[in-house]
Amino acid sequence: MPEKKIYKIQGMHCANCALTIEKNLSKLDDVKTANVNYATEKATVEFKSKENDKQILKTIKNSGYKADPIKTEEQATARVEMGEVKKERNLFILSLVLAVPVVILSMVMRDMSMTSKVIQALLAGVIQFYVGWRFYKGAYYAIKNKTANMDTLIALGTSAAFFYSIATTFFISGDVFYETSALLITFVMLGKWLEARAKGQTGEAIKKLLGLQAKTALVERSGKEMEIPIKEVKVGDVVIVKPGEKIPVDGKVISGQSTVDESMISGESIPVEKKEGDQAVGATLNKTGSFKFKAEKIGKDTVLAQIVKVVEEAQSKKAPIQKFADKVSAYFVPTVLGIAVITFVLWMTVGGAEFVDALLIFTAVLVIACPCALGLATPTAIMVGTGMGAQNGILIRSGEALEIANKVNAVVFDKTGTITKGLPEVTDVKGDVLPIAASLEKRSEHPLAEAIVREAGHKNIKLAEPEEFEALAGLGVKGKIEGQHIIIGTKKLLSRFNIKLDAEQEKLKNKFESEGKTVVLIAIEKNIAGLIAIADTIKESSPGAVARLKQMGIRTIMITGDNLATAEAIAKQVNIDQVLAEVMPEDKAKEISKLQKEGDVVAMVGDGINDAPALASADLGIAMGAGTDIAIETGDIVLIKNDLQDVAKAIQLSRMTMAKIKQNMFWALFYNSVGIPIAALGLLRAEFAGLAMALSSVSVVTNSLLLKRKKLK
Ligand code: ADP
Ligand code: MG
Repeated sequence: MPEKKIYKIQGMHCANCALTIEKNLSKLDDVKTANVNYATEKATVEFKSKENDKQILKTIKNSGYKADPIKTEEQATARVEMGEVKKERNLFILSLVLAVPVVILSMVMRDMSMTSKVIQALLAGVIQFYVGWRFYKGAYYAIKNKTANMDTLIALGTSAAFFYSIATTFFISGDVFYETSALLITFVMLGKWLEARAKGQTGEAIKKLLGLQAKTALVERSGKEMEIPIKEVKVGDVVIVKPGEKIPVDGKVISGQSTVDESMISGESIPVEKKEGDQAVGATLNKTGSFKFKAEKIGKDTVLAQIVKVVEEAQSKKAPIQKFADKVSAYFVPTVLGIAVITFVLWMTVGGAEFVDALLIFTAVLVIACPCALGLATPTAIMVGTGMGAQNGILIRSGEALEIANKVNAVVFDKTGTITKGLPEVTDVKGDVLPIAASLEKRSEHPLAEAIVREAGHKNIKLAEPEEFEALAGLGVKGKIEGQHIIIGTKKLLSRFNIKLDAEQEKLKNKFESEGKTVVLIAIEKNIAGLIAIADTIKESSPGAVARLKQMGIRTIMITGDNLATAEAIAKQVNIDQVLAEVMPEDKAKEISKLQKEGDVVAMVGDGINDAPALASADLGIAMGAGTDIAIETGDIVLIKNDLQDVAKAIQLSRMTMAKIKQNMFWALFYNSVGIPIAALGLLRAEFAGLAMALSSVSVVTNSLLLKRKKLK
């Protein structure tokens, strides 16, 4: 397994910065993949074999940025630090305080005396080189990396205005306009500050989740109760939970009784009952009762930590749609430089403009064109979307999953445990077959086998030890008990051994199957000795969920190894569009591919344990009912609750998020494409170009945050 490591990066001002770092990291020999996210300010590096911190840090530094490896889970969530937001704010305020007198002297008092000019030069100089130093630095590294970025544009634009004014102040005749560079940088800083603030909020969902954690735990050690920091809880500790307290870690209840509000991990507002043997989940809130539980999972193994990890990984990976934005950004800056130069030349020649005016227009074009908002369009929306999902028990593993979910037009459900409760019960037994059947099925782990064994238990039947046993996936079981050959399973299985049903058995079987029951046939020494009918009731949420998907224009399909009659009876209860029955486990993936060949974008919903291959071959694998034991290895989306409605919710969330991304991209490009001609025609003062550009970034981030206002229904 190749090693992966996350680095926190400081000093990125634009999506292009992220691209530059990414390019430089990818070039390294030890690096397999590198992913730099501008919104989360993190680099995720996958190494070919061993990690190489030193090389990574050096490369990032040489690209012009600061980086720190992230060690613990907690640090990983330290996103846009509050300190950073404050720093941006202070720089903006300083810039503003210095810019105001410049504006008063130049625009209000119109004082063109030498003293006034020198004061303006000093104030604007501090803004230019202290507040604006980052733009020079960024531009320098961009040149070093043979690219151009937002810093290049701002540094060039403001320098043109500033140095021309210096020249006219001290050396040549002409106007000064220090206010242009001073205001421009001030506005850009305003944008940076607001952007940092808003970016911090996009990651709030995770911070909130982590904030749910209890700080301490009350444990019982060597007969004494003691309060210890949560970090010191060990696996096996007996933890005491009092009314109204948070559950510190994950474990199994050993005594006591209570109800627990698990809404923070599942989104389910109704408190869940907890008694001996039940699972207690860390960070959930105990209501009125009191209980003790044995700690089973601590630290990074807890459900909460797993959830946070999934969401973080999703946020650090790039969605395919972002590649489009990246490409645009990469070509944008050089193109804009070209346009600005051409504009300048045209104004100087054909336009017959003064050098000063042409220069100011040149500056305005450079500044308005920065594709910063475009770089923020995708990652900020994905952060908000995945965060919202996590708060509702919907874990989206990557931006790619989110993007595909938006395109899904067919959803395939596994029957057992997905559409049905997966708790089958024996309803009818014909013939004295329960003892034999239960004795053999004891060795099987199939839900039907468990139902048969359970039923024998209710009837206090003593079970025999089979001498031979073999499980035949998707068909049944076979073995030997007390010297007799036993075969239990489907008609198909029995027909392989040339065992046939008589007319009466056939009739009985058909009757049960039309009721939606699964019929298990029992043959002893090649003769059918009887049959057992087993019913698995549908989940209350299944019909509603199917209806909801249909309403969204999505085709619904059920897939099962069960026979057609039973499957159709169940399908009717939930009103599903199509049934694929008698599909052998290994063929489920093939059926999915068939649908894909017909042109469908297919989501497969299953339990993630038996259905892993089918989940993997679908365009979108949705593993459900993971509950307290998150099987995050399978499935592009993991649903924590066992509620089928969440399939529709997940798709709805992805549609909402993708719509946001497209909106963001539209607005970002709109600003640029409308702004450039206006600026080129000389209708936009350079400082207002700065303001417009700053506002476009802020509006994109704010638009992403608006996603939070929407409700998942
Ligand atoms: P599903 O798609 O519902 O998970 P499976 O592929 O596991 O179904 O099994 C298909 C069918 O094979 C079952 O409906 C049942 O009739 C039969 N079968 C499988 N395993 C067993 C078993 N252990 N005992 C009896 N019947 C079995
Ligand atoms: Mg199954």
